[in-house]
Amino acid sequence: MKRYKMFVNGEWVEGHRKGYFPVYDPSNEEIIAEVPDADEQDVDRAVKAARAAFDSGAWPATTAQERGRILFRLAERVRKESAKLAELESRNCGKPIVESEYDVADVATCFEYYGGLATKVLGHVNPVPDNALSLALREPIGVAGQIIPWNYPLLMAAWKLAPAIAAGCTCVLKPAEQTPLTALEMAAWFADAGLPPGVVNIITGFGETAGAPLVRHSDVNKIAFTGSASVGKQIVKMAADTVKRVTLELGGKSPNIFFADADFEAAIDGALFGVFINQGEVCSAGSRILVEKLIYPKFVEAATEKAKRIRLGPPLERGTKMGPLVSKEQYERVRMYQELGKTEGKVAIGGGRPASPAKGYYVEPTIFYDVKNSARIAQEEIFGPVAAVIPFSDETEAIRIANDTPYGLAAAVWSRDIYKVFRVVKALRAGIVWVNHMQPTYVEAPWGGYKQSGFGRELGPWGIEEYLETKQVHINLNEQPIGWY
Ligand code: NAP
Ligand code: MG
Repeated sequence: MKRYKMFVNGEWVEGHRKGYFPVYDPSNEEIIAEVPDADEQDVDRAVKAARAAFDSGAWPATTAQERGRILFRLAERVRKESAKLAELESRNCGKPIVESEYDVADVATCFEYYGGLATKVLGHVNPVPDNALSLALREPIGVAGQIIPWNYPLLMAAWKLAPAIAAGCTCVLKPAEQTPLTALEMAAWFADAGLPPGVVNIITGFGETAGAPLVRHSDVNKIAFTGSASVGKQIVKMAADTVKRVTLELGGKSPNIFFADADFEAAIDGALFGVFINQGEVCSAGSRILVEKLIYPKFVEAATEKAKRIRLGPPLERGTKMGPLVSKEQYERVRMYQELGKTEGKVAIGGGRPASPAKGYYVEPTIFYDVKNSARIAQEEIFGPVAAVIPFSDETEAIRIANDTPYGLAAAVWSRDIYKVFRVVKALRAGIVWVNHMQPTYVEAPWGGYKQSGFGRELGPWGIEEYLETKQVHINLNEQPIGWY
């Protein structure tokens, strides 16, 4: 078992209370590491380091080109160490090794993308009517507090850190209590990549004791949060006292809509991939599967047959398609919804814990059908491999059901009728809409939600915008006095 320290001001440190908490392997419920249990005082130390690094020292003098090169070097290092990172990620969060390998590759791509973007942040010349030069300068927003979940631990860290570094901000990142390990491993490479001390600080701890003080801290200028809607709402309230900029990515209850004219084989695969990838622990999971009545019975049957072949197993075995859930807490939560589903719909497959593997937080891929959209399993984010299949009669009804949710992160529509596809795409109230696919995510394209799925966008040029301020500069070109008084 490895004991980790936190990374503050370029150094490995303990919490001031010297306390640690355990980190588990969810596939066998064993402790694999322990990390410092940070509190408000530790958060303050990290924020002070980030503040000092932003206000003085080497970072403000670092050019955009150099920030870009730092990100390229980080990308290169992540690629070099990808096998080790992927293995640790799978051990810590339970996702199949093949998925961790994709995640780590995406981490490197994310650093590269923002490395390139660092030198493409442009200001503006404003066409004011006076004899003056009016400019809009883009400047880094300052110290960013970044709070992330456990479903894509290293990738969420990269989505947060890369645009912030590119913009010239400094960061205090708090990984999820369950999954801090890969971010801590990566911190060991920051200095080699050229990051001055204090630019990126990583603190480990719990939401209430380490996350909340970060949100409330008066020296933090912005909070970037990914996680549950309930915590997101608290963050907005906590951030109000110091009027911080906040961006939120809060998950959803995304509809995956299948019309009768869709390619049937592709549709079945897309329905399962949409909701079962990463054990269903995906903010954009297509957890409401809306199916046109003309193909409904055939669809439920085919999806069930195919789901029977999903191989559950240890995350590090290459043939595994579904690993354990991340934690005991999440396992119990998903088990609760599996039981609830039996009262709200009919079981097509799953609904419990598999007989094997005997240990670990495994649950069966579960499909409920004949579910009403008003059911709790169709309204609440489960964050596990549990799908609710809902029939619909026509396009109007499909759109109505799809939008009948407080969330609006993602949606997908499957059809070969391009006119229908465009009508539905336009009518969907969601930040991401896939057509004849679900889940592919690219650093070049915007990511974020409508409605209670949050606000702000990550990735692409939108992602760096969230770390920039705009300063108006007015340069008077008249040599005469103003002549008013
Ligand atoms: P969560 O409680 O929202 O946790 C997300 C992050 O926020 C974690 O780092 C967490 O720290 C931190 N946090 C918790 N309470 C906080 C507070 N009062 N102030 C500041 N930070 C705080 O999510 P979870 O407990 O990991 O999972 C619960 C549910 O959230 C899931 O079942 C799922 O529905 C949803 N979820 C959504 C996403 C998404 O991508 N949208 C991701 C993960 C989970 P701790 O790790 O110490 O709790
Ligand atoms: Mg939590």
